[in-house]
Amino acid sequence: MKRVFSGIQPSGDIHLGNYLGAIRNWVLLLDQYDCIFCIVDYHAQTIPYDPQAMPRRVMNAAVANMAAGIDPKRCRLFVQSHVKEVTELAWILGCVTPLGDLERMTQFKSKTQEHQLGSNLGLLAYPVLMAADILLYKAELVPVGDDQIQHLELAREICRKFDSTFGPVFPEPQPLLTKTSRVMGIDGKTKMSKSLNNTIGLLETEEQVWSKLKVAVTDENRKRRTDPGNPLVCNVFTIHQGFTQDSQIAQIDKECRSAGIGCVDCKKILARNLEAVMAPMRERARHLESPPDEVRQILDEGASACREIAVRVMDEVRVATGLRDARRQQ
Ligand code: SF4
Repeated sequence: MKRVFSGIQPSGDIHLGNYLGAIRNWVLLLDQYDCIFCIVDYHAQTIPYDPQAMPRRVMNAAVANMAAGIDPKRCRLFVQSHVKEVTELAWILGCVTPLGDLERMTQFKSKTQEHQLGSNLGLLAYPVLMAADILLYKAELVPVGDDQIQHLELAREICRKFDSTFGPVFPEPQPLLTKTSRVMGIDGKTKMSKSLNNTIGLLETEEQVWSKLKVAVTDENRKRRTDPGNPLVCNVFTIHQGFTQDSQIAQIDKECRSAGIGCVDCKKILARNLEAVMAPMRERARHLESPPDEVRQILDEGASACREIAVRVMDEVRVATGLRDARRQQ
């Protein structure tokens, strides 16, 4: 089976945007590929964060992923910093990465603005660490949404540069284009993101979800119940597409355009459909959290399986780059 690698940041509670944009697709890959999924805590250090909260965030991410269907028996799930070889590889790859390529990254520019940071080396080198994540496990495929395509392109370039400089070590990773939905936050304008405080958490209760959904922005041109709406500009309709049956979506589309349904009723249907998916996830999360060491043990096992690969690959890298003499046993 071809190997797939993907990572998710432990940047607060996992939300519907993470689920529709990544996790739901990962679950579909479990039986088709040799999947490695990583909670990328080193990446989460590239913006200001509370160190006290980090262990909890990592555990929350692990629990939410497993509750949403990432079965650790059918993949390797681990925490990035538990396999330290990745930082060594990131250093080596950084030495073949042109500075200009990093400075051009859209995410570097937007994150620098969003968090009002000055230039921060970690944020600038984020794509190099991402390349190291992928190459360390010789992953051949990387599931990507549109916001990660630029980073993956650079990872592929870094891979080609390394192999042409030091000899073939890594397979060039290819994008695995999956069906992704770009879900906006409840403000309807910006991407769903914990840092923008506009999320609906994947493990939130029915009441919490409704308190957010009822104020979620819809088609802003629909001022009154009697005005026809346009589902194509409505984020509530986008979320429906992840949780509602096709026939019901078609009906909402039709009734919205003819003012046959109001936004409150439309949101109530969505709330019911969300609850049908989220209630079993909350139940699984409760089970996973009841013996707290179990999740830790799963992550430890994932890290130890990944470390075995990483140690072998880094041996090849050290020989190729002259850090180790191939004639000497170590
Ligand atoms: Fe959006 Fe539904 Fe309101 Fe139409 S009826 S604008 S799809 S919330």
